[in-house]
Amino acid sequence: MHVWDQLEKPGHLVRLNPKGVGSILLKEQEDMIQKVVGYGHESIMEHVSFTFMIEQVSRALTHQLVRHRLCTFSQQSLRAVKPGNFIDLSEFFVDDAAQDMHGENVRELYELASDTYETLVNNGVPKERARWVLPIGTLTNIMMTCNLRELRHICRHRLCLRAQDEIREMTKHMVTLVRGSNDFIGRALGTKCELMEECTDVCPQGRNKKKADKGSAD
Ligand SMILES: Cc1cc2nc3c(=O)[nH]c(=O)nc-3n(C[C@H](O)[C@H](O)[C@H](O)COP(=O)(O)OP(=O)(O)OC[C@H]3O[C@@H](n4cnc5c(N)ncnc54)[C@H](O)[C@@H]3O)c2cc1C
Repeated sequence: MHVWDQLEKPGHLVRLNPKGVGSILLKEQEDMIQKVVGYGHESIMEHVSFTFMIEQVSRALTHQLVRHRLCTFSQQSLRAVKPGNFIDLSEFFVDDAAQDMHGENVRELYELASDTYETLVNNGVPKERARWVLPIGTLTNIMMTCNLRELRHICRHRLCLRAQDEIREMTKHMVTLVRGSNDFIGRALGTKCELMEECTDVCPQGRNKKKADKGSAD
């Protein structure tokens, strides 16, 4: 019996070669996989899976992330664990002027939420209720496991400029990690437009980039 590491021998996922898997060149295996995935036979990608530990992201991000139902998640619930910090002000605002104008308000709101939470807990309100006063910008940690097919699906949507910047940055980090461990598999990940799928939006990222650069709205 031979048990191959699917990252080393991806061709094993698509063909049982009579000469044995070890005799198929890596390039041949990659070509085979590309061909089969091109036919729309994407289920072979489900044999490859990833686990990511995602730290210090907002609960707004995790709320979006857990919508991806084919992943497995474990997250701090705030039923037992007290909240840590909130999204940093430097990430909050698009520019310094906006931060100068509104930064103090946000800081005060954070402090009020944090103090109110502490007071409630200290006065016997269970943490699972006291958490209702916390902003959605409260930072949290989440662990996520998913297969390559689902990760590809997530990338198509979350690397897109339509996605919020926080979740887009997180997805970019995931792609960098995957590409670092296996470039061939990493190349399967991208936006809808990068993967040459239909996207009619005019945006600075996709196939209609030139139109967007010219400012065309059609
Ligand atoms: C830019 C952007 C804006 C968004 N805005 C909103 C919004 O305003 N409001 C909102 O509620 N959500 C919003 N969402 C979330 C979105 O509607 C999806 O819930 C989320 O992207 C998860 O995607 P999904 O359901 O395709 O995939 P996943 O849950 O990751 O599933 C992957 C694929 O598996 C299949 N699948 C999974 N479960 C089922 C099922 N039960 N039945 C049939 N097929 C299934 C589908 O083909 C699906 O595409 C937004 C998402 C993006 C990217």
